[in-house]
Parts: sequence; C-alpha cells; structure tokens
Amino acid sequence: MYYNKLSDYLKKEYGEKLYKLLLTSGMTCPNRDGTCGTNGCIFCSEEGSGEFAADSKLSINEQIEFSKRTVPSVSGKYIAYFQSFTNTYASAERIKALYYPVVCRDDIAVLSIATRPDCLSDETISVLSELNRIKPVWVELGLQTIHEQSAQFIRRGYPLPVYENAAKLLKNAGIKVITHLILGLPFETKNDMLRSAEFAGRMSDGIKFHMLYIQKGTDIAKLYEKNTFRLLEKEEYIDILCDCIRLLPANVVIHRLTGDADKSKLIAPMWSADKIKLLKDINNAFYDRDICQGEHL
Ligand code: SF4
Repeated sequence: MYYNKLSDYLKKEYGEKLYKLLLTSGMTCPNRDGTCGTNGCIFCSEEGSGEFAADSKLSINEQIEFSKRTVPSVSGKYIAYFQSFTNTYASAERIKALYYPVVCRDDIAVLSIATRPDCLSDETISVLSELNRIKPVWVELGLQTIHEQSAQFIRRGYPLPVYENAAKLLKNAGIKVITHLILGLPFETKNDMLRSAEFAGRMSDGIKFHMLYIQKGTDIAKLYEKNTFRLLEKEEYIDILCDCIRLLPANVVIHRLTGDADKSKLIAPMWSADKIKLLKDINNAFYDRDICQGEHL
C-alpha cells in the first residue's frame, strides 16, 4: 500500500524537498483572549503551540531573512510557515497586508498558515484564494479529534461542523487543507482515533499526526501529574498510527508522523524525544506490516 509522504510530494511538485521558515504573524487566539475561551486548548503552551517560531519583534521580511540562515535549500526556495497561535485572527485587510508581500517574494514557494476553522470568514477565504493564485496557500486546521467529548476535554472551543464547513469552503476555493490530529487523547479508544483519521482524510489534502505529549506549563500537565489519564506507549502509538494511515485516501499527503515538542519542556512521553529513532521505528513497522512498499521516511 502506498502513502504519500510530504518529501515525495514536494519533490514531485517543486523538484526538491522544500524546508519551512518558521514565522510569526503576531496574531493571538480567540481561545485565549476571551472570545471563545481564556485558557486556550488544554495542551497549548504560552507560545501558542509554536515553540520554534521567529521573534515577533522582527518584521516578516526580517524573520524570513533570519530564518533562511538556519535551514537548507537547494534552489533558494522555502515554505513560509506561520504556525503559532491563530494566523487568520484579524480583518481580511490585515491578513492581505501581511501575507501578500510574502507570496510575492521569489524565495517563497508556498505559504502555509495554521489557524482555527472558526477564524475563516468568507472575506478571509476570498483573500486567501487571491493569494493562492500567486503562490500555493496551505491552511492547517487543528482539529485533533472528531469526538465531541474529547473536543470539550481539550477545550478546543468549536464543534465539528465548524471544521467541516471551513474545510469545504477552503477546498472549494482551491486552497489545500491540512488537518492536525492528536493520537492518544485521554479516554479515546483506538477505534475513536481511527474514526477521526478516516473523517479527516476525507476532508483534507494533508494530515499531520502527532502523539499527545505533555509540556511543562500547560494545563494538561497538571492533570497528568495527578495521574488522571495515561499516555500511549511507543508501540501503541506506532500501531495506531499505521492503522490510521491505512484508512487515508492515497492522495492525502502525510505531513507529520510524530509530535515535535520542545525537549526542554517535555514531561512525557520521553520516547517521543528521540525523533530520529521514532521515525526509524515507524518506518520498520510499516515494512513489517507491508504498509509501505519500499518507502523510506
Ligand atoms: S487554537 Fe492553537 S493557539 Fe489557540 S489555544 Fe488552541 S492550540 Fe493554542
């Protein structure tokens, strides 16, 4: 069985593996400023789930130039990636003013924006569609789970139909949708996670999987320390991940197979800290289970 990994997709579309420049828009999040919540998602860090982003005091152009010094590129082209907080949480005018110069740069091949599905008005989608005519725009949506009980537990702050509607509108506008899923949310069964993957696979062009991990300073860390739930063991994670991938349509690009916690803040699971080893183990599991014929991660 074939699955579409991001590096293959990038090589096919752009002739090389493009690297991401981690940039900061300076926007906040409605799940933190009181609009739909004050404490944010239960796993969210102070950095708005974007631990490695550039300094927001720099202009976007300065951030791009700074970040380019830290990542390789054969052709000098990159993905401009706005990961932390909610990067469409502003007026359509501000969104256009911020991202238009980015897509006009010769060194930017793709604009990738992480946001919430409840922050995508018709006007915003229309601006993104305009930008998408200049360079491909990817919109990343942090769904995490399709199950309402889990969504409430993690304080996601919107119900599933909001995601469904936003994903449809984006796709109708020709914008690629990448959905984030967390495997191992407290009290979810393997079957719950498979159902989330199946649903997200139908709605998305790409999926980012990661395991639930616990970082210092998050609300979920307090619950974890009280032993109110357990985390997945490494073997369980790999097993569930393999089965989730099997359920995805072949054209869905897999953007991520593991979490990427800041090691200095990681409380658990410690097996997630060795990303190279983990990717190797996932790769071996794919081979063992004949999921990935001749594919290397
Ligand atoms: S939507 Fe993103 S930035 Fe906002 S609270 Fe949740 S994880 Fe944090």
